[in-house]
This record gives sequence, C-alpha cells and structure tokens, in this order.
Amino acid sequence: MSEMRWNPLLGEWVVTATHRQERTFLPPPDHCPLCPTKPGGFESEVPFPDYDVAVFENRFPTFFPAPPAPSVSATDLYAVRPAQGVCEVVLYTPRHDTTLAQLPLSQYAKLVRVWTDRYTELGNLPYVQYVLIFENKGEEIGVTLHHPHGQIYAFPFIPPVLEREIQQATAHEARTGRCLFCDILAEERTDGRRMVAENDGFAAFVPFFARWPYEVHIFSRRHIGAMPEFTAAECADFARILKTVL
Ligand SMILES: [Zn+2]
Ligand SMILES: [Zn+2]
Repeated sequence: MSEMRWNPLLGEWVVTATHRQERTFLPPPDHCPLCPTKPGGFESEVPFPDYDVAVFENRFPTFFPAPPAPSVSATDLYAVRPAQGVCEVVLYTPRHDTTLAQLPLSQYAKLVRVWTDRYTELGNLPYVQYVLIFENKGEEIGVTLHHPHGQIYAFPFIPPVLEREIQQATAHEARTGRCLFCDILAEERTDGRRMVAENDGFAAFVPFFARWPYEVHIFSRRHIGAMPEFTAAECADFARILKTVL
C-alpha cells in the first residue's frame, strides 16, 4: 500500500508506504545487499563482482514510476493521489567498511557526475517536480544498511521546506529586486565569522540562522540554479569543498 494523502491541517502531502516496514534491516556484513556479488557468494543487489559507483532503483521505494492505485478513495476534504515518482540508491564505493568522508577526492568527482546525470534524467520526467539527493546517516534516523550509500528521491511535488524557501526567495526578490541566496552568501562572506571553507566556485558556512549542530550550507558563488549548470571547473570545486566539509 502506497499513496499520497493530503494533510489539510498543514497543507501538505503525506506519503504512506507500509511495505517499507519489510525492508532489510541491519544485515551482517557478509550479507550486505549493497556489496558486489562475489563469485559463488551471497547474491546482493549488484550482480557484478565489482563496481565503481552504482545506481539502482530502491527495492523498497516510497515512490513508484508506475504506482499502485491508492487503497482508499478521496473525499472533498482528503485528497488522494498515486505515489508516482522514483527512488534510487547511489553506492559510493564497492568497499563496505568506509564512509563518504574517507573516500578520495577522485571518487567525489565521479559522484558529482553521477548526481548531475540522475538529477537531469529524473528531473525531466513529466511527473517529477523536485529531485532530492541526500544521505541519511546513523541508525538513530533510520539507516538500515551500513554500506556507504546515498539516496535520490524524485518527488511528484515540491517538498514543503523547499516550497517555503521558494516563497521566501520570491518575496525577497519582489521586495529588493535581488536574489535571496546571493544576498545570504554575500552577508556571510562579509561577516566572515561563520565561514568554514571557500574556493573559486563554492563557499561553505554555518548560517546565522543555523538550527542543528554541525549545520553547514554550501552555496555556489555564481548565481545559478542547479548542478547541470556547473562548469567543469565548478564540478571539481564542488567535489573539493564537499570533501573538505565532510
Ligand atoms: Zn556492503
Ligand atoms: Zn543568486
């Protein structure tokens, strides 16, 4: 059972995904579904003896390219939509016992290429409104597999926090004629106290309004929208600053 249910109190979609309860939970290292499949060994999600970076569709997705029909009918108050979207898994390395932070810079450069490719392809799907590339870290927030990996969610709607950022940026531009993100970056660079790292293409800082411990934002220094607009130099700069921050 998987569908989108409208929450009229908050004005946002909730995605129900009861089948995800059955997903693999903290398997022993020799039964990791994200390791390469060794000849004669345990058959993982990756049917190859080795890989560099790998991407595949999540076997326990929240969204489906061909979603099941909703299990309930909509009413005037409670809208219902099929959970159409895409959920992918990105494997950073075939090595089980490492983390993104420990990987060499060359692997980050490959990941930037992979992320850009997936962002472009998924973003072009007619039913996709937003592509979120992310990594959850720690069993506390629900990580069920220790193999270094991230995820990509191609949403059929703009997630609420992002929608608010867009509203704020639109209002800021209407009021000042300027880009909110460029203004935040300029203010942080002028103040300087919260800057963490900087190169030609990007700046990393703990924003004035940080809420979480270790909250770091990385902004492009050029006024651009998303990864497909990165120049080759910016791809390299982004890989470098990500490695520095992590
Ligand atoms: Zn593994
Ligand atoms: Zn800007």
